[in-house]
Amino acid sequence: MISDKHTPHQYKPDACKLRYRLARNFIDQFYTSTYDATDDPGEGQQRLGVRSNFLGQFNFKSMTREALNEMDIIVNPSYIPSGKLKGRVAIITGGDSGIGRSIAVLYAKEGADIAIVYLKNGRDAQFTRKLVSAEGKICRLYKGDISEESFCRDVVRSVVKDFGLLSILVNNAGMHVPDSSLKDISSRQFKRTFDVNMFSFYYFTHEALKFMKKGSSIINTASVVAFRGSDHLIDYSASKGAIVSFTRSLSKNLATKGIRVNAVAPGPVWTPLIFESFSKSHIAEFGKENPMKRAGLPREVAPAYVFLASEDASFISGQVIHVNGGEIVD
Ligand code: NAD
Repeated sequence: MISDKHTPHQYKPDACKLRYRLARNFIDQFYTSTYDATDDPGEGQQRLGVRSNFLGQFNFKSMTREALNEMDIIVNPSYIPSGKLKGRVAIITGGDSGIGRSIAVLYAKEGADIAIVYLKNGRDAQFTRKLVSAEGKICRLYKGDISEESFCRDVVRSVVKDFGLLSILVNNAGMHVPDSSLKDISSRQFKRTFDVNMFSFYYFTHEALKFMKKGSSIINTASVVAFRGSDHLIDYSASKGAIVSFTRSLSKNLATKGIRVNAVAPGPVWTPLIFESFSKSHIAEFGKENPMKRAGLPREVAPAYVFLASEDASFISGQVIHVNGGEIVD
């Protein structure tokens, strides 16, 4: 069994400011000292005016791949934890970066120990582990391809062995390849998209349910495109639609067992996925179509995962929270 060293933070403005400043210094040092050419994120090297003040006001004028490592993007500095996940253990696939990283840090702030599953960016994963450790919680890293069933099942078994329990599963990792026509989507790509985005959810969940007890929670990352479609992400949208149906059906199946299953459907969010898959012109317009006329930040999405994992959501299952800048979808 793991030890529980966590005590919920008391809200002390001065202490929070100090922690925030220390975290920012730490990030600056981490990314300056460990940066090398093989990790070059390409465009967006220059530091832009994207920092927020302590109360969380954010300048949305511009965004870069590099800025995604800013603490302001990961956690809203005004976030006040209250031990909502004390004593829990969470697997977060894709927990090294983007939305998953913010979930990992917030879960740690709320008292959970974390297991992160990621594909290849070890530097992102190490950084996220340091952020979780800074909250006094354990973070273990599991590197591999979630399209492989044996890897997914091994991770779940290792987590239970290493931590002694599993109480939260966040199926969050995903990929997409934009295409202008269905003609451009090979059957190989279509299968790969479903292997990574959908089948992995089944592998992790199927194995996790062998160990999860009453009060556990499963949260799946869907997408706004599951509801409104996307002309340039046809295979991806279809996989996200399948995730919504999987979530609803599994929630009904598990309702009387006390395990809740929900989903979060983000709209456009600034993450590595966007910089790594879309063209510069697409990125320039990214997020401008929703009512708020902007893309969101990981820190604006992650609190929904805290809510769904916590006792605050004890009467909620089979639902989708839409975190999308105000777009109304059914
Ligand atoms: P991200 O690039 O930060 O995260 C994607 C993660 O998936 C990475 O951590 C990567 O390691 C992992 N991953 C991808 N393929 C994998 C594989 N084969 N094996 C293991 N891990 C793999 O981007 P993000 O935007 O934070 O993505 C998180 C989730 O949010 C995804 O499911 C994505 O579809 C969804 N989403 C994102 C947006 C957006 O605008 N960013 C919008 C809607 C939904």
